[in-house]
Amino acid sequence: MSLLLIAKNRDMNSLKEALLEIDPNLDVEIWPRVENKERVTFAVSWNHPEKVLQNYPNLRAVSSLGAGVNHLLSDEAISEDISLTRIVIPSLKDQMAEYVLNAVQNYRLHTARYVDQKREGFWSKHEPIPKSDCTVGVMGLGEIGVEVSKRLLVNGFEVVGYSRSKKLIDDVETYLGDELDEFLSKTNVLVCLLPLTKETNGILDLDIFKKMKKPSYLINVARGAHLVEEDLVYALDTGALNGATLDVFEEEPLPSNHLFWNRPKIMITPHVASITDPKEAAGLIVENYKRSLSGMELLFEVDREKGY
Ligand code: NAP
Repeated sequence: MSLLLIAKNRDMNSLKEALLEIDPNLDVEIWPRVENKERVTFAVSWNHPEKVLQNYPNLRAVSSLGAGVNHLLSDEAISEDISLTRIVIPSLKDQMAEYVLNAVQNYRLHTARYVDQKREGFWSKHEPIPKSDCTVGVMGLGEIGVEVSKRLLVNGFEVVGYSRSKKLIDDVETYLGDELDEFLSKTNVLVCLLPLTKETNGILDLDIFKKMKKPSYLINVARGAHLVEEDLVYALDTGALNGATLDVFEEEPLPSNHLFWNRPKIMITPHVASITDPKEAAGLIVENYKRSLSGMELLFEVDREKGY
């Protein structure tokens, strides 16, 4: 039996090393040079080319190399009898909590404007936006959203949250399902940490931006397809939104001629908000590989019905 590591544009050698450090007897293959496809029973994927996995007849489970699984669910070649899992490790939550806190602080302290002013050699002061005008609304109170909420709370921000089912988090007012408008009416800074599903695709649209409490700001760290790009531009131009920090995009890398690049109100990072640490992920991958070999329930298994 062997374990396959498969990714487009990502070096999987450090993950292979980390896996072998845990168990030197593992047989680990890295796509595309796979010696024996029949022996592969477990794959770890990050944006694998569609349909490639149908060439592995004994595949039992596929783990995403990250927290998101939309790239697995969108590949119809991964049949329903193959279990899907994902990576949930402390460092993924911690990095995201730091990223979001940083983005909120940069917004309220006008960091991007000062970077522009320095480039232009221009001295001008801007009042920080008070924390009372920066209530953060976290959309998606899952593994990462809860950690982000707690980090914001200890740094003195008011936090409200929105999820599919009711969540109880100390000091966070939580909303669910059809309470979206109420959640938005309390939210100045909207942080998207939803999984990408049929229901959440395109959820960040003009209607949502208009319903937010003013002044308002968007942070999208989930998936590019959550955002209706033209609606963001319109919202910024009409003042419905003051600005946005985006880490994820419909097309990645963001094309060099994309209109977001020239918008001073949009802060861009290249999908780096939270990156899987191979050493930390290796333990969970080995555990799930061994569980799959012995037919046990996998950790952090994806619910195909829910889509996450
Ligand atoms: P998770 O544990 O699966 O949590 C998802 C949350 O979203 C849950 O609270 C869920 O509600 C809620 N939700 C799902 N569908 C909803 C809907 N239609 N309406 C309202 N709430 C809904 O996911 P996670 O591990 O926190 O990760 C979240 C996402 O972050 C990932 O899917 C990935 O796309 C993104 N991410 C990005 C990066 C990056 O570097 N940019 C890194 C890691 C992750 P329930 O609790 O009621 O089920």
